[in-house]
Amino acid sequence: MGFTLAVIGRPNVGKSTLFNRLVGKRLAIVDDQPGVTRDRREGDARLSDLRFRVIDTAGLEEAFDESMEGRMRRQTEMALEEADVAVLLIDARAGVMPLDAHFAKFLRKHSTPVILVANKCEGAAGQPGLMEAYSLGLGDPIPLSAEHGEGMLDLYQALLPYE
Ligand code: GDP
Ligand code: MG
Repeated sequence: MGFTLAVIGRPNVGKSTLFNRLVGKRLAIVDDQPGVTRDRREGDARLSDLRFRVIDTAGLEEAFDESMEGRMRRQTEMALEEADVAVLLIDARAGVMPLDAHFAKFLRKHSTPVILVANKCEGAAGQPGLMEAYSLGLGDPIPLSAEHGEGMLDLYQALLPYE
């Protein structure tokens, strides 16, 4: 269990789908019980021969006690504290949203290295969003489809240095 990866991003970009793909069906719970606050989930991930710990910053959507920005910041900070590397996930089909830019700005100032991943890139619908992702200032985005398992080799190669 070499390193810890935090999966970060605004709601609905596919964080839990990626988490489930990395951790396996054993722990798969994409839809949490209504009213149940889960601050996050952690699991032992496998990606080919890589073994690492992954943190899904779930629960962001279910917390009621703070502003959106406050919840986001707290969740992100807690995950980053333990992470050796973070994935900032965006939804390439939706394009770059203000909240994505907010996360990117926060992560650019943070010392934890960030891999920018553009999810929902299966087919052609993600292409414009993939290009927009360069504007986030986090380097080349990796095109991925967490749902269909496409782009996992590129993610693997991006994670290799942290082994
Ligand atoms: P989270 O809120 O960031 O954890 O996002 P979820 O993992 O719950 O996914 C949000 C929605 O996006 C769900 O309906 C998923 O099925 C969908 N989704 C996740 N990954 C992909 C993908 O690669 N392609 C497409 N088209 N949809 C996806
Ligand atoms: Mg989730």
